[in-house]
Amino acid sequence: MRSALTLVAAPGDLEAKHVDAVARALSAAGLAPGPTRWLSPDRAAELAVEGDPEAIEAAAGEALGDAPVDRCALPVDGRRKRLLFADMDSTIVTDETLDAVAHQTGIGEKVAAITARGMRGEIDFAESLTSRVALLTGRDAAIIEPVLAGLTYSPGARALVATMRAHGAVCALVSGGFTIFTDKVRAELGFNAAKANVFEIVDGRLTGRLGGPLVSRETKQAWLVELAGQHGIPRGAALAIGDGANDLAMIEAAGLGIAYRGKPILRAAARARIDHTDLRTALYFQGYADAEIVERPPA
Ligand SMILES: [Mg+2]
Repeated sequence: MRSALTLVAAPGDLEAKHVDAVARALSAAGLAPGPTRWLSPDRAAELAVEGDPEAIEAAAGEALGDAPVDRCALPVDGRRKRLLFADMDSTIVTDETLDAVAHQTGIGEKVAAITARGMRGEIDFAESLTSRVALLTGRDAAIIEPVLAGLTYSPGARALVATMRAHGAVCALVSGGFTIFTDKVRAELGFNAAKANVFEIVDGRLTGRLGGPLVSRETKQAWLVELAGQHGIPRGAALAIGDGANDLAMIEAAGLGIAYRGKPILRAAARARIDHTDLRTALYFQGYADAEIVERPPA
């Protein structure tokens, strides 16, 4: 099988010694690599290797030890994905947005503790969401505004969406968070579609209930399957990326599931992990070089 192994470190930190050590380990394992192609100078490199991706990653892992280098081997055929399915909170944006809203009210720590348990998979996501939203009952909806204004994108988020769009992929944002945030992120980053929960607001106040169906772990997975079907894209050509337990089903349903700085439960299940670098790495894993990467989605 023709495969490609991608190695990515923080900008300036990928050294020839990392690449050489991996090439030697591959040769020792009988997986002689072809020439190295630098996707980004001193940051991302790929090696063409004839062999099974799992065996290639095992050899690379032995050579790299605990060096802060993200790595992923994929078959060359189908390496570029046609559907991006991205989680929002702690993936595309740096915040947990519901926690940030709760912080505006003084009950932030109470809500964040429930969020953390849900993201680690210790309690059911639906239960964690409804109990957190209930804690906001009667609050002025204006508490959402500062969070909306302060939304911060994770490094590489713009490039990930814009580059995949520019190369013809369909990009979807899916969140157990809220539409008031996904609407803004969708417009600013150029996602084709978005799905999230709705705050029920009556007379300018949060009712503590959802204004629509709950977006759960199962909803995320079901929407991936639905959207792939609508666009005639096989699930193997989908890339799903997230950080928490509620992303588990969607990353397992996609051809390439990536845990981005993920919780242990997600890292264990994901086909690939980004632990040390930013979201551009999801482009390098697909073989995009810097010259192909853009920051603005097509109009
Ligand atoms: Mg998340």
